[in-house]
Amino acid sequence: MHFTPAVAALCIGALSKVAHATSSQNCCTALEATALKSQVAYPNSAAYKESIGSYWAENVQLEPTCVLQPRTAKEVSLAVSTLVAADGGSCKFAVRGGGHTTWAGASNIADGVTIDLSLMDTTTYDEKAGIASILPGARWGSVYKTLAKYDVTVPGGRSGVVGVAGFLLGGGNTFHTSRVGFACDNVENYEVVLADGTIIEANRDSHADLFKALKGGSGNFGIVTKYDMKVIEGDKLWGGLVTYDNSTSLKHLEAGHEFINNLEKDHDASWIGMWEYLSVTDQNMIANALEYTTPVAYPPIFDSFTAIANTSSTMRLTNLWNLTEEITQANGYRDVFVTATFVNNLDVMKKTVDIHNRMIEEARGSTKGDDYTMFTMIQPWPKLFTDHSIEKGGNMLGLDRFDENLFQVLIDYSWKNEADDALFNRLANGALEELVNYSKSIGADNEFIYLNYANNNQDPLSSYGSENVEYIRSIAKKYDQTGVFQTQVPGGFKISAVGQ
Ligand SMILES: Cc1cc2nc3c(=O)[nH]c(=O)nc-3n(C[C@H](O)[C@H](O)[C@H](O)COP(=O)(O)OP(=O)(O)OC[C@H]3O[C@@H](n4cnc5c(N)ncnc54)[C@H](O)[C@@H]3O)c2cc1C
Repeated sequence: MHFTPAVAALCIGALSKVAHATSSQNCCTALEATALKSQVAYPNSAAYKESIGSYWAENVQLEPTCVLQPRTAKEVSLAVSTLVAADGGSCKFAVRGGGHTTWAGASNIADGVTIDLSLMDTTTYDEKAGIASILPGARWGSVYKTLAKYDVTVPGGRSGVVGVAGFLLGGGNTFHTSRVGFACDNVENYEVVLADGTIIEANRDSHADLFKALKGGSGNFGIVTKYDMKVIEGDKLWGGLVTYDNSTSLKHLEAGHEFINNLEKDHDASWIGMWEYLSVTDQNMIANALEYTTPVAYPPIFDSFTAIANTSSTMRLTNLWNLTEEITQANGYRDVFVTATFVNNLDVMKKTVDIHNRMIEEARGSTKGDDYTMFTMIQPWPKLFTDHSIEKGGNMLGLDRFDENLFQVLIDYSWKNEADDALFNRLANGALEELVNYSKSIGADNEFIYLNYANNNQDPLSSYGSENVEYIRSIAKKYDQTGVFQTQVPGGFKISAVGQ
């Protein structure tokens, strides 16, 4: 028999696919041969379908060979030891917390095993110590609901559906950041399963180097199976969502610019400015999430926002759980997030909105589907955030290199029709590139890229600065000497992918 090179190449490609699938099946079989047997789910099962279907963005719902759903740290440890040893060390696996990353392969894997931590989702509160112990499969809504019974809370996600695990490993911007720093700054202890299966506690007294590295260093060291967080007394806030006509845009930018500089004077306030287009109503509008973390209505720091005529308002005194149930974004869409950080400069803010409006016009004429949303969000990132981080022992984000107030842009597009994937990715990436180039042209750029909002074509770990990059590299090497979390767990932002 004679094969042309093309046919031979096709055959080799098909064979290597089969070989990989077989290898992945060996990994699942190895798990089934342990006490984890009943926790392994295959594509035809309800547990598997529910797990995959519950990733927030549809474009990340890859189909692993099997999903493993451990219930305890010991089971996570057994899973890691088994997968590291099985099939000659060739098993590939993913680690999933809440599954909110918007790019495919961060917390899921097409050909391998996904360790889905969803069943480990409880929160317990030690009143005496003032510590909430949160398991990695929890969503912030359930955490707040549990803690509300004790009239305490923790700084966490501003949408109740968001997962705890990835959020805390990437930093975590919350309604309370001006008051207590990033969410990760408030973690007092991590329980971690290392690559060799040992379960350790990382805190200020034990494995203090790993404790610090986990504050922003993401999934480079092991699997976190518990987060112990210091609580905040009182979970009542004044806040809500206020919508406005698009014609008021400049007033919001001026108010936001001033607000960022004023945060220094009032640490209870928080603002998310959302410029949002909804195709189903063909509406281009502005929404502000205004939150005040003590229950005081209309504090003066919001005066420039509250002076703008609104079209609707839900501002009220309530608790954190209730507010984070309100700020939801529909799941079941295909999504892209891209982000950048800038000096708090009004011209860059204006440019952000100009580009947003132009992208809407481009999408209007080009989409295949008719159901999509285009959000551009502006959020304060003042020096004050970092001052709190430093007070609490520091983290990996490297923001202490900057001494100016910053703001952050998140471009967040969602659409239903897969045929629009290329379009929305092009628009989002193009919008960000144009904005960054503009900021550079007027000297208002900043190199920080927030990992929790970053797309897979961005390099957030590098943006932490060379000193922190080398620190993360050395701690990853110390706690995972064979590089399991770099090679066998390929998902997420990996320190080995950052240039030396
Ligand atoms: C609707 C929505 C609202 C959001 N709101 C906010 C907000 O208010 N503030 C903010 O800062 N961010 C916010 N984000 C971004 C959010 O912080 C990230 O998406 C974050 O990754 C969510 O955590 P997760 O557990 O769901 O992530 P996953 O996608 O499950 O995981 C993210 C990464 O962490 C790794 N990982 C997960 N669990 C573990 C573990 N236990 N041990 C080791 N590695 C692990 C994964 O392998 C993956 O690489 C929001 C995102 C969405 C979609």
